[in-house]
Amino acid sequence: MSNILALAERNVPRYTSYPTAPHFSAAIGPDVYAQWLSALPARATLSFYIHVPYCTELCLYCGCTTKATRKREPVERYAAHLIEDIALLPDLAGRPVVHLHWGGGTPSILGPELLTEITAKLAARFNFSALKEHAIELDPRRIDQPLVRALAAIGVTRASLGVQEFASHVQKAIGRVQPFDVVARGVDWLRAAGITDLNFDLMYGLPHQTTADVARSAVLTASLAPQRIALFGYAHVPWFRVQQRRFDEAALPGLAERLEQARVAAETLGAAGYVPIGLDHFAKADDELATAARARRLHRNFQGYTTDTADALLGLGASAIGRLPQGFVQNAPDVAGYARAMAAGRFATVRGVRMSDDDRRRSAIIERLMCDLAVDLDAVAPGMPFADEIAALDPLAHEGLLRVEDRRIAVTEAGRPFVRLAAAAFDAYLATKNAKHSIAV
Ligand code: SF4
Repeated sequence: MSNILALAERNVPRYTSYPTAPHFSAAIGPDVYAQWLSALPARATLSFYIHVPYCTELCLYCGCTTKATRKREPVERYAAHLIEDIALLPDLAGRPVVHLHWGGGTPSILGPELLTEITAKLAARFNFSALKEHAIELDPRRIDQPLVRALAAIGVTRASLGVQEFASHVQKAIGRVQPFDVVARGVDWLRAAGITDLNFDLMYGLPHQTTADVARSAVLTASLAPQRIALFGYAHVPWFRVQQRRFDEAALPGLAERLEQARVAAETLGAAGYVPIGLDHFAKADDELATAARARRLHRNFQGYTTDTADALLGLGASAIGRLPQGFVQNAPDVAGYARAMAAGRFATVRGVRMSDDDRRRSAIIERLMCDLAVDLDAVAPGMPFADEIAALDPLAHEGLLRVEDRRIAVTEAGRPFVRLAAAAFDAYLATKNAKHSIAV
């Protein structure tokens, strides 16, 4: 077991992109982004990600790019900048938008009117006739009926609810008190309005959280029957997120307990009919995510696992990351920097990466490992020896966490929580920069 714990303790990225964001460079700015946009093929499909970096108050565990406000003025000013950002985009009306995702922060802090106005601005400039999914992240404490009616009216089809944990002693410790009834009421309102595709986010590894708490939260979650569940290990990164410094580190579950919590949650959700997807997601067996996983058509992006196959993902808002055929771009992470760019009438792109052929091959290997828990190196990157990378998998193979046969890598069920380590063996940047990541499990 001690070898396993040593592996679980390794710091590795979550691989929502490759190259990962710490390796983006300031050489990619607004002019490069504009060039990349203008080179989008005429038949390209598009997705949008809109980031809203405001919450009414901060949860202590939060790792998102957001800030607390109870005033309307900064939110309204930010909405005006989002509308300016939309106006900066070139005419791409011939290219259908297939996915639209509002993330944060708490995007619903915009309120019904601004959500409606921003959606209308997008719909006026882009072709939404083939939209497959319109998703929004919601805080169950901030759901009310006027909001739900507005979401239904703008065509939202999927809502992701941040649930994390139902035990009240943990909710108090993490600064997010939302009893089961509050979550259940929000779910009822959403379903009654026709927003029936629901995701829940759960967490383990939180302060004062026990394995029994995790199991009970999984049971309560299954009783509300969301189609998809994401189960994240709390990432303690106090050097990066100052509010996490308020946690009593002695109250955080240890590594062995984290592993047990993840195992028990997976077992409980499995018994309730959910199938595991990739590293940390679960879905009902007939859900599109599960179907895509079985067919090895799953993808991974900044929101986690997705069925989105768009050729380009355009990010709007502070810190938003976009993906184009040429590479990744990221907007100014702070609202002030984003606002300055909008005031100057230019894209807020401050960094990015142009993908090399080597990046593309490694990205494909890492995405298959993260999505399928398996990859055939000869199919994805023919002719590349990857001898060092395969050798780096030895400690995982030795512990029974994966098998390598004829250049085919298959992560075992026991290895599922460790798949980021297998992906890291193919990350050519990992040793080159001292970026600090969370632990592997
Ligand atoms: S967890 Fe969600 S609601 Fe809480 S501070 Fe972070 S983004 Fe805001």
